[in-house]
Amino acid sequence: MLGDKRTDYISWDEYFMGVAMLSGMRSKDPHTQVGACIVSEDNKILSMGYNGFPKGCSDDEFPWAREGEPLNNKYFYTTHSELNAILNYRGGSLEGAKLYVTLFPCNECAKAIIQAGIKTIVYGDDKYEHTPSVLASKRMLDAAGVRYYRYTKTGREITISL
Ligand SMILES: [Zn+2]
Repeated sequence: MLGDKRTDYISWDEYFMGVAMLSGMRSKDPHTQVGACIVSEDNKILSMGYNGFPKGCSDDEFPWAREGEPLNNKYFYTTHSELNAILNYRGGSLEGAKLYVTLFPCNECAKAIIQAGIKTIVYGDDKYEHTPSVLASKRMLDAAGVRYYRYTKTGREITISL
């Protein structure tokens, strides 16, 4: 019978946040796994990313520690998921795109997001909202007119057998 489409299909927000979460599962970081998915204005996936070391910098040789000497912890070496998603896109402009990310972007990623022309951010957690990095991030995003809103959890459980 015509017109009897499924009604329990996932929403666009569930789809793209789900893809961002799946992407984060690729991260080798033992403490923080963040995933990002960039989507065009007409809901096509343009790029994805997760936090990790640059190409050629071995996950087994570079440090994952959060403490200790700067040269021996992860902070100088990791690329965040948002920046990786931006850099992974080789198809041209991201002007007007939307970014789905599982954690609110830091100040460094905010700069890249603004300069790439991304206009909307949908984020999951905002657990560092009181840190100077996230406060600076929001200050820049507000000034640049980048809209951001928190993803609304639907509670839908999805099981995927791989
Ligand atoms: Zn960042």
